[in-house]
Amino acid sequence: MVTPEGACYTPARESARPPGRAATRNFFAMARRRQLYEGKAKILFEGPEPGTLVQYFKDDATAGNGAKKGTITGKGVLNNRISEYLMTRLHEIGIPTHFIRRLNMREQLIREVEIIPLEVVVRNVAAGSLATRLGITEGQRLPRSIIEYYYKNDQLNDPMVAEEHITCFGWAATQDLDDMVALTLRVNDFLTGLFLGVGITLVDFKLEFGRLWENEEMRIVLADEISPDNCRLWDAKTGEKMDKDRFRRDLGKVEEGYQEVARRLGILPEAGPRDMSGPEVMQ
Ligand code: C5P
Repeated sequence: MVTPEGACYTPARESARPPGRAATRNFFAMARRRQLYEGKAKILFEGPEPGTLVQYFKDDATAGNGAKKGTITGKGVLNNRISEYLMTRLHEIGIPTHFIRRLNMREQLIREVEIIPLEVVVRNVAAGSLATRLGITEGQRLPRSIIEYYYKNDQLNDPMVAEEHITCFGWAATQDLDDMVALTLRVNDFLTGLFLGVGITLVDFKLEFGRLWENEEMRIVLADEISPDNCRLWDAKTGEKMDKDRFRRDLGKVEEGYQEVARRLGILPEAGPRDMSGPEVMQ
């Protein structure tokens, strides 16, 4: 869903109420910016400096490659915060990421990277497409973590691919793939522990990577976002789902699931869910 370059984004929800001074400043800053890409859950704008982008988190939710569409109120605000928190913790243990800093309620400044057209999925517990495809009971802990690759292509429904496809078609070189796997395993180890510490089982999740060029050097960095949109997060005691499966499977209390993840991580916006509708310049 690429929109024409140069199109301006007007945040309908935010403009529906009288903006405060900070919100007005932010609104005009947004309106001036060049929109580069609109995806299902995020919009990318040109950043303030070369090599940077602004990533805007929407409340829009889709499932089944766009077959199901909806809105999860406040999701953008929460995913912005959750992803900021997780990317920052990962940076602290030496995982290179595209994240620079959060700008406001719905936006973060990121480094512009060349996105590798792969979704890297890690599974610790059988669920979702793995459970369906192989007839395995959902919830069964896997003897070891499994990494799968999917080719990012909406027209083809993001098909699962093998390493041979990836290197044969040049989506990533063998060395790139080795780097991605090494980073993915470290991310999985770290996030599994981090979530367990707040009573959440990290069942599975999806990562995306990009190539970051600095002078003549290229390195693979973590890109996109890490949030309940692309992780399965279950309460460690009850197994209750706190992620996008609540939307995908019509389980109800979708917003509450995302809020609970943020609350347990200690990063729910100060005024709680009421504080989640409008942008506010934080710098
Ligand atoms: O649907 P499936 O079981 O293959 O999803 C595995 C993991 O990858 C889940 O955590 C899901 O949220 C994530 N995923 C994603 N984007 C997709 C497909 C899956 O974030 N397009």
